[in-house]
Amino acid sequence: MKIDVSSFSAPCPCGREHKIHVKDILIEAGAINKIPELLSEIFIGKPEEICIICDDNTYSAAGAQVEDKVKDCMVIVLPSKGLHADNHGVKLAEEKLADNIKLILAVGSGTIHDLSRYLANKRGIPFVSIPTAASVDGFVSTVAAMTWNGFKKTFPAVSPILVIADSAVFSKAPYRLTASGISDLLGKYTALVDWEIAHLVTEEYICNRVCDLELTALNEVCSCLEDLRGNVSEEKRLKAYEQLMYALLLSGIAMQMIGNSRPASGAEHHISHLWEMEVINSPLDAYHGEKVSIGLMIAAEAYHTMKDAIRSGQYEMVSYNGLDYMSLKESFGPKGLYEGMLEENTPDPLEQIDVMEFERLLPQIADIIDKLPSVDTIDELLTRGGCIKYVHEIGLDEHIIPKTICLSPFVRNRLTFMRLTKLIKLL
Ligand SMILES: [Zn+2]
Ligand SMILES: [Zn+2]
Repeated sequence: MKIDVSSFSAPCPCGREHKIHVKDILIEAGAINKIPELLSEIFIGKPEEICIICDDNTYSAAGAQVEDKVKDCMVIVLPSKGLHADNHGVKLAEEKLADNIKLILAVGSGTIHDLSRYLANKRGIPFVSIPTAASVDGFVSTVAAMTWNGFKKTFPAVSPILVIADSAVFSKAPYRLTASGISDLLGKYTALVDWEIAHLVTEEYICNRVCDLELTALNEVCSCLEDLRGNVSEEKRLKAYEQLMYALLLSGIAMQMIGNSRPASGAEHHISHLWEMEVINSPLDAYHGEKVSIGLMIAAEAYHTMKDAIRSGQYEMVSYNGLDYMSLKESFGPKGLYEGMLEENTPDPLEQIDVMEFERLLPQIADIIDKLPSVDTIDELLTRGGCIKYVHEIGLDEHIIPKTICLSPFVRNRLTFMRLTKLIKLL
């Protein structure tokens, strides 16, 4: 399928004229064969001015095939072992990237994309995304999530101008990567509920069209989860993979349309980010989507429990006294992250909330939470997708859950229902 990208940038009922940076998206089996034709539409330089960036795994999965189509281009094959989106990874790629390169082709998964978009931005040149797994929603992101000298940082970077997603390639990725992509996608359930609640409580801007687009694509994937793993015809299997890739890319497009990650990231991602900071846990050997998966389960459980308490009156409001500096210092201080956390939480998104007014909105908030699938349904969807669901599956203990619920809302200055629950006490 060829995605008509222009339809996303038309004037919208939300009042904004959305801008998106990616110019063309092709998702189909054999898409790589169309590279010469697709590149000729966006690039007028010589093949020697094009560089493929991949790792040893993605070179054999698709890089060699791309090289064969582009001919005479430069190829950088990074070692997949221990490769991360960090200053070391950037250095490895940068010292090989010739000065005359005018276009980068990123052939790989999340890490290769982050390194490529960072370098493309630094050199002021465009890049093309050729994903080899439906593993994350960040392929068309405009920022690069990097670890710089041990600290997580988001760098300004560029969106790909073109996405060439070959389902004959990404449907053959190790299934763990695909399952991770499914989880990243299902995380939109809580992300979108958070957005809607924040809109209700603070009048934060929301675009209902973007929400509808995302939910439609998400529900479509939920209806064909078995096909991604099951014994179905190759045609049906490829179609399911294309649907998943479409939904993931759409989530990235939604972020471009809104200008930040609000449509794709809520309480479930904050949980993942907290664990990545390694302040209450040791380093985890888990993919982004796997952490989001468990974050989704934890957030959904917390939200539905709170909803039931609201409806049965089993709660009382808490007068808010600002940030709990003691517990923040205790948790983030030892890693030298306390100052950064204070900065992130200034202004404190809870400070603007009038508790009485918030209490008046609770019935409406409960109605919004009704849109979130039940914990059983989410559990079932994740099972059907072959995804991770529980903390122990990534080497964490159950005891980490209450602390995670308490601290995760602080990792980003974004109002989520998880953060708002600090104003409510369950009885
Ligand atoms: Zn809109
Ligand atoms: Zn994500």
